[in-house]
Amino acid sequence: MRRYRRAKIVATVGPASSSPEMLKKLLEAGVDTFRLNFSHGTHDDHAKVHAAIRALEAEVARPIGILQDLQGPKIRVGTIRDGKLTLKAGEKIRFVLSGSDGDQMSIPLPHPEIFAAILPGHELLIDDGRVRVRVTGLGDDWIEAEMMVGGVISNRKGVNLPGTVLDLSPLTAKDRADLAYGLELGVDWVALSFVQKPGDMIEARGLIGDRAGLMAKIEKPAALDQIEDIIRLSDAVMVARGDLGVEIPHEFVPGRQKELVRACRLAVKPVIVATQMLDSMVTAPTPTRAEASDVATAIYDGADAVMLSAESATGSYPVEAVGMMDRIIKATEQHKLYRSIIEATRPGEEQTAPHAVAAAAADLAEAVHAPAIVAFTSSGTTPARIARKRPPMPIVAITPDAKVSRRLCLLWGAHSILSDDITTYEEMVQRATATARSEGFAKPVDTIVIVAGIPFAQAGTTNNLRVVQVGEG
Ligand code: PGA
Ligand code: MN
Repeated sequence: MRRYRRAKIVATVGPASSSPEMLKKLLEAGVDTFRLNFSHGTHDDHAKVHAAIRALEAEVARPIGILQDLQGPKIRVGTIRDGKLTLKAGEKIRFVLSGSDGDQMSIPLPHPEIFAAILPGHELLIDDGRVRVRVTGLGDDWIEAEMMVGGVISNRKGVNLPGTVLDLSPLTAKDRADLAYGLELGVDWVALSFVQKPGDMIEARGLIGDRAGLMAKIEKPAALDQIEDIIRLSDAVMVARGDLGVEIPHEFVPGRQKELVRACRLAVKPVIVATQMLDSMVTAPTPTRAEASDVATAIYDGADAVMLSAESATGSYPVEAVGMMDRIIKATEQHKLYRSIIEATRPGEEQTAPHAVAAAAADLAEAVHAPAIVAFTSSGTTPARIARKRPPMPIVAITPDAKVSRRLCLLWGAHSILSDDITTYEEMVQRATATARSEGFAKPVDTIVIVAGIPFAQAGTTNNLRVVQVGEG
C-alpha cells in the first residue's frame, strides 16, 4: 500500500471512528498516523483503539503511527451556582479560587496558579474566546474583572490566559498517569499540550526518554517567544491552531503557521498543521471552499502533515473527510506551481557532513531522474535530512526498528519500510533495489539513489551515496 502524495494525514480517533472497521476504512482512505486524544475517553477505550490499529498494521503489513495527545493543564471554570451566567460588556464579574456556593455573580476558578500569576490588565478568555474579561483588581483568592465581550459563561467552560505565564507543569497528575499508560501501550508519539517554555520539554523528556517521540503543541504565545529552543528540544511540532487562535488574534495565526513550518523544516523536525482544517465536514459531506484552500495552504507551506480533529473523531463524515484531505494534498502537490513555491522556501544548507550528503542525495536523484531515493536509517534522521530538501521523488526509508518505522509515518515524503538489519554493502544495494521494485517505486530500467550511514546500524551517520540501476541488484 503506497501513497501517491508526500504530505501525511493525521486523524483523531473518537466515537465516530474507533471501531476496527472504521479504523480500516480511514487507513484505506489515507490516514498515516492516528491521534488518541487523552482529553476524552477512558484508558480502556484507548487501549482498544491501540490494539485495533496494531492488528490493522499486521494485517496490511505497513507501519502505522500512533500519537498520544495529552490534555495538559487545560484551565476550566468550576461549577457555577445556577449552571450559567449571562453578562453584558461593561459589567463587573468576580472569580473566586473556591466556593462554588458563593454568591451568584462569583465564578469559581479552581486553579491557584492563576491567582499567583495574574495581574491587573491581564485578560481571561472563556469558552474558546467567545467571552472576554479584563482584570481590574485582585486579592489572594479573588479576581475582579470587567466584561470586554459579553456572553454566556457556563459550567466547566475552558479558560485561556494569553498574557499570563503560569507556574504550571505542562504535565498534570492526569497527564502523568495517561503518559505512563500510553508508554505501556507503546504509542509512537506523545504530544505535550500548552507548552510554555523549553523547560517543559526537558521535564517531559525526563519521563519519556526515547520510548516515544516528543511533540510540542504550539498553542501559547509564551511558547512563540522561545520557539527555537522548544523546537530544538522536540522531535516534532504541532501548530495547534485551535487554542493558538484563541490566545492570539486570528489575523496573526496564518503568519505564525508559516513561520513555524519553516522553522521546523530548517530544524529537521516534522510539523503538523492542526485544527478546523475541514471543520464543516463535521456535519456536511463536503468542505467549504475556504477549508479546501486551508489544507492546500498548509501543503504549499511545506507542512509534513495535516490533521483532522472533530471531523474524524465525532463527525458524521470521517471517511469522506480523510478522502477529501487526500485529494486536496495530491492535487496541490501535482499543481504546476507547487515545486516553485516549495523551493522558494528552501532552507539554507547546514554545514555538517550528514546534511551535505542528504542534500547531495536529493540533487543527485534529480540529476539522474531517479524515481525514488532509498535511505537506510536506524534512528530516522537520514530520511528526515533528505526530506528537509523536499526532493521531487519519494524517500523509501528502510529501518530495522519498528518504532522508527512508525514514527516515519509523520515525515514528509517518507515511505517507511520495516526490514531486518543489513550488514554489508552488497546486501544494502540488493535490499534497496529489491524494495524499490517490490513496493512499486522503481522498474528494472530505473536508476535509484541509495543513502546510508556506514558502519550500518550506527545512528546519526549519513555518509554514503550510491547510484545504481535497479535491474542490477
Ligand atoms: P486540542 O489541540 O485539539 O487538543 O485542543 C489542538 C489545538 O488546540 O489546535
Ligand atoms: Mn489545544
